[in-house]
Amino acid sequence: VLPPTSRKLTRYEAKRHNRRLVLRTIYQAGEISRADIARATGLTRTTSSSAVADLMEEGLVEELGQGPSAGGKPPTILHVAQDARHVAGVDLGGLTLRGAVFDLRGSVCHQATVPLNTGDGNHVLDLVLDLLDRLVELADRPLLGIGVGLPGLIDVSQGIVHQAVNLGWRQLPLMDLLAQRYHLPIGLVNDSQAAALAEYTFANPDRVRDLAVILIKRGISAGLIFNGLLHHGTSRSGASEIGHVRVVEDGELCACGHRGCLETVASQRAVLHMAQDIYDSHPQSSLRQFAAASTSVDMDAVLRALEAGDPLLASMVEGVGRYLGIAAANLVSVANVPLVVLAGSVARFGNPLVEVVGREMRDRSLASLAEQVQVRVSELGDDIVMKGAAAAMLASELGVV
Ligand SMILES: [Zn+2]
Repeated sequence: VLPPTSRKLTRYEAKRHNRRLVLRTIYQAGEISRADIARATGLTRTTSSSAVADLMEEGLVEELGQGPSAGGKPPTILHVAQDARHVAGVDLGGLTLRGAVFDLRGSVCHQATVPLNTGDGNHVLDLVLDLLDRLVELADRPLLGIGVGLPGLIDVSQGIVHQAVNLGWRQLPLMDLLAQRYHLPIGLVNDSQAAALAEYTFANPDRVRDLAVILIKRGISAGLIFNGLLHHGTSRSGASEIGHVRVVEDGELCACGHRGCLETVASQRAVLHMAQDIYDSHPQSSLRQFAAASTSVDMDAVLRALEAGDPLLASMVEGVGRYLGIAAANLVSVANVPLVVLAGSVARFGNPLVEVVGREMRDRSLASLAEQVQVRVSELGDDIVMKGAAAAMLASELGVV
C-alpha cells in the first residue's frame, strides 16, 4: 500500500504508462486509427485519446489522413513522426569506432567513424568522446539519448564497464562520464545483446517474440530475446558466452585459458588464420588473386575467393558452419526459440554458411524442435550493433520496443 503522499505520483505514473503503451501500439502498428488503439491497448476511448493528444502535442505522433470507412465516418489514421526525435548509437567493437544518428525507425541520418589506433584506455576514451562530439554536432533534431554497444563485461544498471579488453577499460563509470558531458540519457549494452535488440526491433517483419542472434566477429557471443524482452541472465556481461563452449577436445588454446573453444575455430580471427594457411600452402587458391600478400588476407578477399568458387574456402566455411551448428543446436535446445540469426563479419559468408549451420543444428537436436527453427543471416550488416544500441534507447526513453 502506498502512503497518501504518493497518490499524485501514481496518477502521474499511470498517465506515463498509458502514454508509453499508446506510443508503442502506434509504433508497432505503423498506421492505426484511434478506435483501433483503444481496442489494442484495452484502454477506454477517453484515456487512449487523451494519451494520443499528449503525444501529438509533443510532436511524436501525427495524423496521416483518412482511412477506409467501415460504414460510418472514415477514421483518422495516426502514425509515429519518425523525425520527431533522433537517437545516437555507437559500436565500439571493431577496429574502427562507428556511430550514427538514427531516426525513430532506425534509418541512418548521419554517421561518423574514428579509427581505433590504440589500446590505451584513456586514449580510447578520448577517441570515443571525439566520435560522440561529432554525432551530437551532426544531430539536427532533439536527441533522445546515446546508446553505446561494446563487447565486454558491463553492469547495465550502474553504467559501469567492468572489463572491455579491446578498449583497455576496467571499472570505467562510462555512463556517468558521458551523462556529465552530454546531458543526455546514456545506455550501455553488450554488443551481442544490442544485435538481438536491433534484429527484434528493425528486422522483424513477422513480429517474432523470441529469437537468438549469434554475433560472430573477433569473439562469438549470443543475445537472446524472450517474449519481446532482452534476456539479461545473471552474468555481468548479460550476453550468452557461447564462444567459450568447448567444441574441439584438446583443441587450440583460447584467450580465456581453456582449449578448443568455439572462438578458436569459428571467429573472424580463426577464419583469417585458416585462410592465411590456405594462401600460404596452396598457390592454386584463388585467394592469391584477391589478396596481394598473405598479410592482406582479409574478410573481403576471403569472400571474393569463396564467391569465385574456391573449393578450399568452401570446405573451410563448411567446417566453420559445422562448429556454429553445434552452438546453434545447444542454443535452440535450451532456449526453444523459433529464429536464430547469424550476424557479424563471419555471417557475411551468407547462404553457404546458413545451410551448414541449419543442417548441423537439425542433426544434433530433437528433430521435432529443430525443424521449426529458421536460421538466417541478418540483413543489418555492419550497422547491427549501433542500431541495437539506438534501439535500447528507444526502449528506455520511449518504451516503443
Ligand atoms: Zn575460450
